[in-house]
Amino acid sequence: MCLRALPKRVGVRPPWKLEETRAPGYTVGVRTLITVLVLLVGLGAADARKKRPHRAARAPAGPQWHQLDEPLDGQPEVVGSYAGGCIVGAVPVPAEGVGFETIRRWRNRFYAHPRLADWLADFGRRVRAAGLPDVLVGDISQPRGGRMRSGHRSHQVGLDADIWFTRPPADQRDSDGAFVSLVDHEAINRNVFAPNHVEVLKLAAAAPEVERIFVNWVIKKELCTAPEGERAWLHKVRPWYGHDSHFHVRLRCPPDSPQCRPQSPLSKGDGCGEEAWFSRAAAVERRKAAKAGKAVASNRRPGRRPGHTDVTRERCAEVLAAAAHPGGGVATARRKPGHGGAGRSAASPPK
Ligand SMILES: [Zn+2]
Repeated sequence: MCLRALPKRVGVRPPWKLEETRAPGYTVGVRTLITVLVLLVGLGAADARKKRPHRAARAPAGPQWHQLDEPLDGQPEVVGSYAGGCIVGAVPVPAEGVGFETIRRWRNRFYAHPRLADWLADFGRRVRAAGLPDVLVGDISQPRGGRMRSGHRSHQVGLDADIWFTRPPADQRDSDGAFVSLVDHEAINRNVFAPNHVEVLKLAAAAPEVERIFVNWVIKKELCTAPEGERAWLHKVRPWYGHDSHFHVRLRCPPDSPQCRPQSPLSKGDGCGEEAWFSRAAAVERRKAAKAGKAVASNRRPGRRPGHTDVTRERCAEVLAAAAHPGGGVATARRKPGHGGAGRSAASPPK
């Protein structure tokens, strides 16, 4: 409900005016209670202030990934994993090209490995050639990759890109709410889901450099209703949570980046049936089995692996520290134009 609408409601008075209608003794009681509450909150705040220096001491010194304005020049090099790494030699993806636009550029997350930048340009051309609506590209990576302050765990090495399924008007694209979901609870939203969405996913999956595509598990389930002979392309389309109004494209490690850590190879086949792992019913079953003491395979999605190695950490520390040199390009706090906030996260982070 909109808070601004409240005072307009007939007969509803804001709580701070209610005491005017009470007896004087009641008013004094309320005031005493408020005073006690204010004192307690004050004590809590003072306690929090005492703890703050300890937390600050643990925060890493120097610039953070999201504060870096510029890529680190050099031979393109991906270091680490999609959810724990960084990139040298990233390039800015242009604001628009044939068949695509990049949005929310104020976030400075439009940097990519040159292979991904080329892939997006080529994808846009194929989208246009297929007669599909131009696509909107959201978050890619920060200038030197690394962990983002909000929104994603992955997107750290310039090989991930979010592509929206729908095209809201230009002045509404900063709000996730403007992008209609293809999923309604745990069912496909038939008012929105259209053959165009299947075609655009097929086009993305057809590219050999694409390693995986993440979509909401309900979308994968819907795609799996195609006849068996027409599902081979679904091999790369992986089910996940979120990703109901955009899909996430991930390119494979470039061959000239020996420190790029690939994901485990995909299992053979179209993967249909695996999406059931994500349903609420399956989650309830897993919890029940765990309670009953039965051995469950895992409560974690199969294939998850830890992130950094020591080598990755050292190299990425160098990439991050290079920003501290003169002209290294450390950005000041970045804000959404006209809003002053960082905005809601675009997606749950796929691994
Ligand atoms: Zn993503």
